[in-house]
Amino acid sequence: MSAVMPTYARANLEFDRGEGCYLYTADNRRFLDFAAGIAVTSVGHSHPHVVDALKSQAEKLWHVSNLYTIPGQEKLAKRLCENSFADVVFFSNSGAEACEGAIKLARKYHSADGRPEKTRIITVKGAFHGRTTTTIAAAGNEKYTEGFGPLAPGFDTVAWGNLNELRGAITHETAAIMVEPVQGEGGIRPASLDYLRELRKIADEYGLLLIFDEVQIGFGRSGKLFGHEWAGIAPDVMAIAKGMGGGFPVGAFLATAEAAKGMTAGTHGSTYGGNPLAMAVGNAVLDVVLEPGFLERVDMVGRRFWKLLLDLVAKHPSVFEEVRGAGLMLGLKCVVPNGEMVGRLREEGLLTVPAAENVVRLLPPLTVEDRQIDEAMAILDRVAANWAASSAA
Ligand SMILES: *Cc1c(COP(=O)(O)O)cnc(C)c1O
Repeated sequence: MSAVMPTYARANLEFDRGEGCYLYTADNRRFLDFAAGIAVTSVGHSHPHVVDALKSQAEKLWHVSNLYTIPGQEKLAKRLCENSFADVVFFSNSGAEACEGAIKLARKYHSADGRPEKTRIITVKGAFHGRTTTTIAAAGNEKYTEGFGPLAPGFDTVAWGNLNELRGAITHETAAIMVEPVQGEGGIRPASLDYLRELRKIADEYGLLLIFDEVQIGFGRSGKLFGHEWAGIAPDVMAIAKGMGGGFPVGAFLATAEAAKGMTAGTHGSTYGGNPLAMAVGNAVLDVVLEPGFLERVDMVGRRFWKLLLDLVAKHPSVFEEVRGAGLMLGLKCVVPNGEMVGRLREEGLLTVPAAENVVRLLPPLTVEDRQIDEAMAILDRVAANWAASSAA
């Protein structure tokens, strides 16, 4: 029996090494990785530039704590700000911590401004913000809160995409609105760009902070550095993580100087957050993502993938129902059970991830090439054809 706490229903499969879009077992079986560690290995496995950055930092200095200036943090924070709406950045180790930090910042902003009653955050159904006690309360999904009460108070959850309900939930205690521009775990559900623009207007009208959780869609997966850029608006606060470290645990929350005005010395911290190893990797991943043409290529490859998936759905209506998503964060809503589909695809050498609403997530590294998309399409087509044939028989 495994001594690992059994909180995951793990596949009986071990990998030994990775290269680009492929993972290999010790006995050399090859898998096309369209799970990417759940949208994490953004520049593929073992990217030489990122490996070099980690190795050379590892030979110099690992950790000093945030009691000292960390040059890699200064550099990465400056670059993130130059390439976003933000003025300041706090580095964390994970997405949940980034979301927690964003929530704390929003409350502190109002408190520092003399409105300590403004503590409540409006969130939406189907959201996912992590697995800490506060972030499960924020999302309010019973699948993750069951048995873990009492839940942290301070969240009002409204229907996804419903602006009337959202407006109706605003009170004098509301501090912020927090949404994912594309819901990931919730089933690859993109917000309409108009919805995002309206959220910006409502936040401005009521003096609320707008928080975007871009832990999954951010850092290039949408074909822009941050997903909200497609809507031509900006949040006041943003949480990022997953793709940011390409597999090294790192996250961050970013904010405007105004929104962050309560975050003074002593108000927030993390022992490991932004340590030299994480920053070396974060800067190296950003080097790759900001290479001229990289994001445009993500957009192009994603659009081609989308079209091929539309054809697939049209060809196998008894297996697949719909294509969803943005950029290289795509989902296939299944007619057949998604968990079983993920299993059959894995048996054929294609790794994917299930999500809510019976969706199979396709999250290749952002460096994926057309020929690997074609390879994935061939597997999807074959598995769907076999499935349709066996259920018709
Ligand atoms: C994965 C995810 C999180 C949580 O990130 P962890 O690193 O697992 O804590 C939060 N928000 C969104 C949108 C995510 O996809």
